Amino acid sequence: MPEVRILKERERQILRKGSGDQDMACEQKSLAGSVSQRACVFCGSRVVLYPIADALHLVHGPVGCAAYTWDIRGSLSSGAQLHRLSFSTDIQEKEVIFGGGEKLYAALSELIDAYHPKAAFVYSTCIVGLIGDDVNAICKRVAREKEIPVLPVHSEGFKGTKKDGYQAACDALARLVGTRSPEGISPFSINILGDFNLAGEIWMIRKYYEDMGIQVVATVTGDGRVDDICKSHGARLNVVQCSGSMTKLAEHMKQRYGIPYIKVSYFGVEDMADALYKVAEHFPENPKILTRAKDIVRQEVQALMPELKRYAQALQGKKAAIYVGGSFKAFSLVRALRLLGMKTVLAGSQTGNKSDYEQLKELCDEGTIIIDDANPLELSKFVKEKDVDLLIGGVKERPIAYKLGLGFCDHNHERKEALAGFTGMLNFAREVYSSVMSPVWRFAPRRGGEYRSSLSIGREDHGQRISEPFCCHS
Ligand code: SF4
Repeated sequence: MPEVRILKERERQILRKGSGDQDMACEQKSLAGSVSQRACVFCGSRVVLYPIADALHLVHGPVGCAAYTWDIRGSLSSGAQLHRLSFSTDIQEKEVIFGGGEKLYAALSELIDAYHPKAAFVYSTCIVGLIGDDVNAICKRVAREKEIPVLPVHSEGFKGTKKDGYQAACDALARLVGTRSPEGISPFSINILGDFNLAGEIWMIRKYYEDMGIQVVATVTGDGRVDDICKSHGARLNVVQCSGSMTKLAEHMKQRYGIPYIKVSYFGVEDMADALYKVAEHFPENPKILTRAKDIVRQEVQALMPELKRYAQALQGKKAAIYVGGSFKAFSLVRALRLLGMKTVLAGSQTGNKSDYEQLKELCDEGTIIIDDANPLELSKFVKEKDVDLLIGGVKERPIAYKLGLGFCDHNHERKEALAGFTGMLNFAREVYSSVMSPVWRFAPRRGGEYRSSLSIGREDHGQRISEPFCCHS
């Protein structure tokens, strides 16, 4: 790979811990020409709202915007499965010229009659923002006619960053909260905000809380239900994970209904235990809750430590790069990797803010590269410079890792393995161990291996000697 130069305008979004006290630039639109790893505004709102399983999700735009279907970015449900179906108005040239309002009205009416959802979310995409369909008016009209909440989600892809999509999702959720009676809710009750139940995590977390004697009113949005969200203002505490996506809703509920919130993470042993203790401490009038939390932590940690220690021995000194959506997850990952004997040499996120990056700087070792809104070339450059053994990221980072010949762990919306909670920590350790220690990497050019192709046995190609494919030998 030729030498990668950092674009001048990007320099302030990258820092090396220990080399000067540079103030990190972040929370700004991606630089044109930098080909950011970030997703668009619509994608931000889609990942937050889609897990609501008994709602209809209609993407108003060209069919390509709806490409991330449930099969790619899934979320498990214990009951209703409506969220697994993908609906798009499939805007075409005719609607671009004459408007897509009629098509939207027809699609919404037909879908609501066919599926009887509890609510409908209508996502505006780029083209809808450009042609100016009055999505609010159409949603209002259908809501009146069908007598369910029909909520516009203003997530035109061009209008900001993925974080603006989170905001649009929170705005839509805020319109549901408070619309049902909260009668009968326990004084020891919480809402879980910001877990999307990609692989069943919310069921584990929910069980920990219920075993502590706490009622979970609503899970927002993993395994989410419209009715629960409507009465979630009856809970006594909002527990926010993935703070980037859900803090706005928590803030809204604090101001409007006086519900306090705390930020937690469910990734890694320390952070998982800390989350349970923080919630227990919120209910000092019931000391049994804290006692039960301590019991759960003790039992779970005892069960997983022997296996974790074995992985940690093998992984001692290996180096990891982290590039995730929200930086709160990066904090937990740095700690979890430390527990596995690994060193984080690069940590970055798509949507971190100043205080997130300050915290990340505190947490990381000297020399760690901290990066905001990276592009693939920058990630490749630093992965090679730091001689990384493992990249943790999502669907867009996976090919970077494999092309460079290093281990990869998917910690994003496409994964199918639960990585949260105590059990999740064990799953994470197993996955990291299997990927980092795989013998396949010694064949990667980066480790001195040769490029081999079954199509070119025994040929000379671009000056490189090509030998037999290793699959014949392994
Ligand atoms: S950027 Fe615009 S056109 Fe592309 S997926 Fe997002 S909303 Fe659709």
